[in-house]
Order: sequence, then C-alpha cells, then structure tokens
Amino acid sequence: MMTDFTVGQIVTTKKNHPCGGNRWEILRVGADLILRCLKCGHHVMMSRARLEKSIR
Ligand SMILES: [Zn+2]
Repeated sequence: MMTDFTVGQIVTTKKNHPCGGNRWEILRVGADLILRCLKCGHHVMMSRARLEKSIR
C-alpha cells in the first residue's frame, strides 16, 4: 500500500536518530523525501520505500 506524504507532516520512526529523537517533519516530497529531525534539526534524504518501512 502506498502511503501519502505531505510537506509539513510529522512522522515517527521506529528507530531513533543518533540524537535520540524519533519525530521528523517532512520538508520535501518526491521520489526521495527530505526530513528534518525535530530534536536536533538535522536533515536526511531517503526514498519513499525506505521511509514507508521505517515509520510506525
Ligand atoms: Zn536528530
């Protein structure tokens, strides 16, 4: 099943970022998505397929 992601949406990942946070704001949606860690502000890029597997 394909999940809809929108800019500004907050997602929670199963695994914590090294900073200890696990909540992210979606900054860009496309083939790859850009997420910002809400705890440390770090940006990461990941594919839609990978994000679908890593969120709860
Ligand atoms: Zn972080």
